Amino acid sequence: MIYLDHNATSPPRPGVAEAMLAAMTATYGNPSSVHGPGRRARQILDDARRAVARLVGVHESRVIFTSGGTESNHLALLGLAEAADHRGTILTSAIEHPSVLNPLERLQARGMRVIKLPVDAMGRVDAQDVERALTPDTRLVSIMAANNETGVLQPIAAIGALCRTAKVPFHCDATQWFGKLPLGVDAIGAELITLSAHKSGGPKGCGALIAGAALPLAPLLLGGGQERGRRSGTENLPGIAGFGLLAGQLAGQIEDESQRIMALQKKMERELLKSVPDAIILGSDAERLPNTTAMLIPGVDGETLVMTLDLAGFAISSGAACSSGKNNPSHVPLAMGWTPEATRSMVRVSLGWETTGTMVDSFISAFQRSVDRLRKGSAFA
Ligand code: PMP
Repeated sequence: MIYLDHNATSPPRPGVAEAMLAAMTATYGNPSSVHGPGRRARQILDDARRAVARLVGVHESRVIFTSGGTESNHLALLGLAEAADHRGTILTSAIEHPSVLNPLERLQARGMRVIKLPVDAMGRVDAQDVERALTPDTRLVSIMAANNETGVLQPIAAIGALCRTAKVPFHCDATQWFGKLPLGVDAIGAELITLSAHKSGGPKGCGALIAGAALPLAPLLLGGGQERGRRSGTENLPGIAGFGLLAGQLAGQIEDESQRIMALQKKMERELLKSVPDAIILGSDAERLPNTTAMLIPGVDGETLVMTLDLAGFAISSGAACSSGKNNPSHVPLAMGWTPEATRSMVRVSLGWETTGTMVDSFISAFQRSVDRLRKGSAFA
């Protein structure tokens, strides 16, 4: 199987599984215990926190380990809203991940105002829309760094600057950015940043929210007061050990790796457009993640193409993993102005750290064969 679905999840990088196993066996202690096994576990936790903080360019006191992107988004949104007594307005965009949009619906039901900013035909939020929508009533702005379906990068540095001037906290869901492009708080420009380990070769069920100590943030989980009281519960040490190892590895290779993957993406898109000339690459004129290519294939059902390619030995997806199989057209291309019918023809190919040129070459010919076969099939249907 050739795996080209890294935005759904990415296979573990070398060393990650071993670090996790060691944290379950050799270092089984509870990091809050004062005895030797506890202190050794605490060391793993501290080292991982330092590695993540260094990669992002923040002080380690700002790293709150969580169970992943979904929880980090909840903590940022629900935690800040509760601290603001559920009053005021939150600005977001129409293309956020459901783990942002769904908690915002709950906040709306509790009386907060939520404004969903539109995107243009390339899937970009306009920073000027953010500027126009900011008012003294705004409690939070939440805009993702890179869209999970299209890979389109959002103008987060500009939005961050606007929020700083307006003294409004900015939350950025950087789940898909993390591990695919160099990540620094300066590039992101947000004081609340969501990270997840499993989209770039780390373990599932582990992530972090980067949040300054001064930010009012009501914890979602109350209990033993772990993570400086911001996220109680005995830490997921195996996950955190794997996340720390990932962060350490990324620090040394993210620049070169993103260049290498971008070259593969460029070549793949060129060849795919030669073999299926009417395919439309979503966000083609926008800056995108170097690994993500979402396409509409006129006359072809995206899910059927995914299944055909699966049988041929290639794993891609028809959109976000969390919405595939649901038969609802994805909200992202719809927000870009595509019809529900066009949206159903979407497939997403996402490359990753272990993708090679040979894999991409065999994918290109399988893709062409599968599209041809489905189109011929539907012509006789
Ligand atoms: N935000 C984005 C943009 C994502 O792509 C995902 C994963 N699909 C999440 C949040 C949720 O992350 P996790 O799977 O770690 O909960």
